[in-house]
Amino acid sequence: MNSQDIIQDEARYLMQTYKRADIVLERGEGVWLYDADGKRYLDFMSGIAVAALGHSDPEVAAAVAEGARTLTHVSNLYYTAPQVELAKKLVTHSFADRVFFTNSGTEAIEGALKFARKRARVGHGEGKHEIVAFNNGFHGRTMGALSITSKGIYREPFTPLVPGVRFAPFNDLAAARALIGPATCAVVVEPVQGEGGINAATPEFLRGLRALCDEHDVTLIFDEIQCGLGRTGTLWAHEAAGVHPDIMTLAKPLANGLPIGAILVTEKVAATVGYGEHGSTFAGGPLVTRAASVVFDRVARPEFLAAVAKNGAYLRQRLQALAGGHVLAVRGSGLLVGVDLDIPAAGVIAAARARGLLVINAGEITLRIAPPLIVTREHIDAAADILGDCLSV
Ligand SMILES: *Cc1c(COP(=O)(O)O)cnc(C)c1O
Repeated sequence: MNSQDIIQDEARYLMQTYKRADIVLERGEGVWLYDADGKRYLDFMSGIAVAALGHSDPEVAAAVAEGARTLTHVSNLYYTAPQVELAKKLVTHSFADRVFFTNSGTEAIEGALKFARKRARVGHGEGKHEIVAFNNGFHGRTMGALSITSKGIYREPFTPLVPGVRFAPFNDLAAARALIGPATCAVVVEPVQGEGGINAATPEFLRGLRALCDEHDVTLIFDEIQCGLGRTGTLWAHEAAGVHPDIMTLAKPLANGLPIGAILVTEKVAATVGYGEHGSTFAGGPLVTRAASVVFDRVARPEFLAAVAKNGAYLRQRLQALAGGHVLAVRGSGLLVGVDLDIPAAGVIAAARARGLLVINAGEITLRIAPPLIVTREHIDAAADILGDCLSV
């Protein structure tokens, strides 16, 4: 099948929920992707901040092959070493005491909400069930995650959603204070909003939420599905604020593209959730956790994180230099960068793609730039040159 056939058959056989760019991708290597016609693209979106180690990483490939050769799946009715080893790494390098694995980001959020509900019920009985989330936050597409995601186009076709969710403006501590009280069981926040436009929470905001949650015995959930695991130049995005959540959700980069999510929790949370109260058939299987251990070991190295911070600063500097050519503002930390434009992002994204660069949007006028974390200065120069070309016309 050639590209046109594939595109036509997609239109015929798949549900039309995705507006895809008209390229058929065939293989990837490092920061490069190749389409079915042999054209090469510099990947500055990483499958939505997923391919942290780039495409076809040899060490990840070897772990996947080893998993396929030895053991892919047994269910969570038995122990496997790769699952336990990955959990130990996550706990050792974070605030958390225990881990629950999932298959995706939205499932990690679902589990986090259930655990917060359970903790509130054990501590306070049935009345404490409300959830506070924030405008422009994104937490996923299943019913619970959708209920705490503010954007109308995602929510409205599917109401009624989970009741008792209240939204406050992001970074507005006074507004959050007005909503958090004895009936609140959870506060959910992205330390850096991804989908919503690459907006970082201020350290004061996260610290203030921590204090409010302590005051009212509320479970504080940091959604680091997009911003966590090295993306911002520190292992966890919330390190910048110097406070810990009670629960943190992870997913996108954790297995470099294989489906996995994780819910990291304190003992206080874990102690309230018992046998049979949550579960998943596939989650945390030996193949995917073996691959995730490779990702974690590489990303958690101080030299690796320092390179992300340094390359991120260089990327922002190169993008800032484009100011004037439709660029209003450059935001972000590490290799998660938003560029506000005075024109719609869609045209710029298409122009960049035609010139061999893949970037995506975060809202109508914001470019989202999230290359693999292994990107080099030379790749950044090439990408900035292409964007400069696209923005000067
Ligand atoms: C992508 C994302 C999710 C949902 O993850 P899926 O794996 O697509 O279900 C949740 N929260 C944040 C912050 C995300 O970026």
